[in-house]
Amino acid sequence: MYDILIIGGGPAGLTAATYACRAGKSVLVIEKAAFGGQITWSPRVENFPGFVSVSGNELGDKLLEQAMAQGAEVELEEVVALDRTGETWTVRCDSGAEFSGKAVILAAGARPRMLGVAREEELVGSGVGYCAVCDGAFYKGKAVAVNGGGNSALQDALLLSESCSRVYLIHRRDSFRGEQKLVDALRERENVEFVLNASVTELLGGDELSGIAVEQDGLRREIGVEGLFVAIGHRPDLEAFAPWLSRDAAGYADAGEDCLTPTAGLFVAGDCRKKAVRQLTTAAADGAVAALAACRWLDR
Ligand code: NAP
Repeated sequence: MYDILIIGGGPAGLTAATYACRAGKSVLVIEKAAFGGQITWSPRVENFPGFVSVSGNELGDKLLEQAMAQGAEVELEEVVALDRTGETWTVRCDSGAEFSGKAVILAAGARPRMLGVAREEELVGSGVGYCAVCDGAFYKGKAVAVNGGGNSALQDALLLSESCSRVYLIHRRDSFRGEQKLVDALRERENVEFVLNASVTELLGGDELSGIAVEQDGLRREIGVEGLFVAIGHRPDLEAFAPWLSRDAAGYADAGEDCLTPTAGLFVAGDCRKKAVRQLTTAAADGAVAALAACRWLDR
């Protein structure tokens, strides 16, 4: 029986673990994919306080190392259900493993949003991808497209431009949501073409992607690419926890800056929470707030 079970090992969950351990609580962090969460997909992070420039993987490793140095225990498991009997919470994992705790911090993050065009799911891994850091190397010397206008899309396009012959950056508006500095860096790259006011409407090719069709200013245009990286944001993945939460229209947990939920003993932190700014720094801040709230609740 742990004092606190933390579901999700990204910056929110690992920061919560560090704070809770330092408050003397026993903590288990359960992560389904990679400790560090979404940030492990980022080749370079330059806006986390104290780090001038660090790779997302390295930052994830450091967050994990820090939490474990304070005494946090960790498990690589996918949580599929959350139940409560009396004041004891139990999480069930897809492997069949179960863990119990007196309080739970949900820091489950969010997963990539899909475009919703025909054959998208079928072509995942055969030309369509959601993580340029993970899969970009497969497209060395080839033409690729990135869809999106936020920091993820801009960073993906920059990364791919280093190894791909051509990178088409497709965005539905004529200005970007992401940082101007990244846009400027992309403008300097000769092998990057901006395709603005454009939406991907078709995925071309047979078993493997050979191109995309976009609708730009009302006209159809075909672009030959072997890879399409979709970077149009994320959506939370809270289905397994639905009975215990209220959620907003977009599916995010409806909890305020205090990270409290309507359910006693359950707290929410990071990108899965309804919030205005989803950044590493705000995820880490949530982790601290949720951990201290959970500690207060345990000590009540
Ligand atoms: P985001 O900032 O929400 O951007 C999503 C982009 O996708 C927007 O440009 C949006 O267009 C576009 N989009 C959304 N739905 C679409 C659709 N159905 N079809 C076509 N385009 C669509 O998401 P993100 O880039 O994944 O970033 C998420 C958060 O992480 C942000 O706060 C970002 O700053 C942060 N981040 C930080 C770093 C870092 O290095 N520190 C790296 C990556 C991300 P509109 O602009 O028209 O809405």
